[in-house]
Amino acid sequence: MMQILRTVAELRTRVRGWKQDGRQVGVVPTMGALHEGHMSLVRAARRGCDRVIVTIFVNPMQFNNPDDLSKYPRTEDADAALLFREGVDILFAPGPDEVYPQGFDSRVLVGGVTAPLEGEMRPGHFEGVATVVAKLFGMTQADRAYFGQKDWQQLQVVRRMVTDLNIPVEVVGCETIREADGLAMSSRNARLDPLSRAQAPALHRIMVKTAAQIRGGSEIAASLAQARDDLRQAGFTEVEYLDLRTAAMLEPATGIEQPVRLLAAAWIGGVRLIDNIPV
Ligand code: AMP
Repeated sequence: MMQILRTVAELRTRVRGWKQDGRQVGVVPTMGALHEGHMSLVRAARRGCDRVIVTIFVNPMQFNNPDDLSKYPRTEDADAALLFREGVDILFAPGPDEVYPQGFDSRVLVGGVTAPLEGEMRPGHFEGVATVVAKLFGMTQADRAYFGQKDWQQLQVVRRMVTDLNIPVEVVGCETIREADGLAMSSRNARLDPLSRAQAPALHRIMVKTAAQIRGGSEIAASLAQARDDLRQAGFTEVEYLDLRTAAMLEPATGIEQPVRLLAAAWIGGVRLIDNIPV
């Protein structure tokens, strides 16, 4: 029977019991408004661990844009019903004061991998992510944590932090789940008006085409410039970045000898979409 817990104290009591029984604990950190992308992480955790905690916390510290925070969809009752059906053991949904009580005054700063792309466009974002993820690891004492490749740079940031701070958690990266038309599932997709929703799959389509061109030997800079143009033609109002980067450090890639990915962030219908694929 799934329990919904709001306090760290209650969570720790439950987890202590599990650990005494030798259970392996998995955690899936989310901000709620759950979709099939999240559920794929939950199922991976279910397969890989004896007990599963899903956290729902819309973390104010990682929002650089107050409007984005206030408009972020919140659907806890529906989320809880989905997680209950999936056999999750604990839904941990603390309020902001439980996570950041009076006197809270620490930050986790991860280095180079946080600087480009999302780090450049969303100042302070990864500081908020690293801080809350480190706290969630401390709160849940999880043995394994499941993250989506959809947020590729975030996954690299979390891996760097866990390695550098010797946090005893195994980070598992899971495939991006997409709609039938290729659009990566995202809680923010719910904010797309019908026209923008119809145009949005162009992001993935153009990235797939560009990756194939680059694999086929096309000049990288020209292919990327073409892709940015194509996105604007397809209805995207602003392309924040669409770039070829090394997979782990997210440094500009000049060739495809090492593992590289295409990563993009672009606006359509007032909504910011991100996506990434391997090349
Ligand atoms: P969020 O609720 O957006 O913070 O996402 C919570 C977790 O779900 C993160 O690890 C995301 O990378 C992951 N996630 C979000 N969308 C998808 C998707 N379409 N496919 C796979 N994982 C996803």
